[in-house]
Amino acid sequence: MAEDRLLDELESFCGRVDAKLSSVNSHECMSIGLLDGGADSNNSTPLLFKDFAPSDTAPVARVLLVGGIHGDEYSSVSILFKWLAMLEEDLGERFHWRVIPVLNPDGLLRPPRMSQRMNANGVDLNRNFPTPNWQEEAHEYWEKRTWKNKRRYPGPEALSEPETAWLVEQIESFQPHAVVSVHAPHGVVDFDGPRVPPRQLGPLELRLLGTYPGSMGRYIGIHKGIPLLTLELESAFGMPRRDEVYAIWYDMLGWLHEKIALPLKLAEESKLRAPVNELLRVGSDSDNEG
Ligand SMILES: [Zn+2]
Repeated sequence: MAEDRLLDELESFCGRVDAKLSSVNSHECMSIGLLDGGADSNNSTPLLFKDFAPSDTAPVARVLLVGGIHGDEYSSVSILFKWLAMLEEDLGERFHWRVIPVLNPDGLLRPPRMSQRMNANGVDLNRNFPTPNWQEEAHEYWEKRTWKNKRRYPGPEALSEPETAWLVEQIESFQPHAVVSVHAPHGVVDFDGPRVPPRQLGPLELRLLGTYPGSMGRYIGIHKGIPLLTLELESAFGMPRRDEVYAIWYDMLGWLHEKIALPLKLAEESKLRAPVNELLRVGSDSDNEG
């Protein structure tokens, strides 16, 4: 019965995404085999994800990839479906991926021309994460710095929204080594957290945009210390060219290998070497050890 329910949910979800986004079709969406993440949006749309992990070897690192936090940034969802298709073709290069193509389905899947940045409660999900001092800072920022801009409303309290609460659960259970969040339309790559950021991913050049009370950058990158790449595509409505979809992906993989997977491998190797070093030290002249 649960499987029937998931199939119905998926058919409904994929049909609605197909109707909204010209570059996603229902059949392709169904064929991905998205899974129910165990939570629903405010309007009872299931929050869906899909994992891709290498079958024959341990993954080099875990990466969480999130699209559609802002419901009016269509390209941030469309490109995730392109990358999901590439992951289906095994182009994930030994990373363990968890992909969430649409974090804010209620903002996206509204009637024609009515998609909105916020979720169904009018909350900007990217201001609703539990950053330190959220209660003092988020509303003050919203009132004094944005003049109560409705598009920036952080919500009544941190994690008041099912979509943000679920994403935080995903971070706790999946324990990603890096997170990639896709937006539009600033046409840059932004970065928060430890590690050296990429200078460029495809056509997107590095520009550090800073963080806000309740934003993913401040929560994931600064507070949790997990490297966070924020991709800002150039247009919210038009997709990047096909060659750019690939260029961003492969530049991102290159950065992930160099700055995330390699340091993990070196740390693992030095842990394995440590006992040997301990043995070598026994009986050696230790006068110079500080
Ligand atoms: Zn955005």
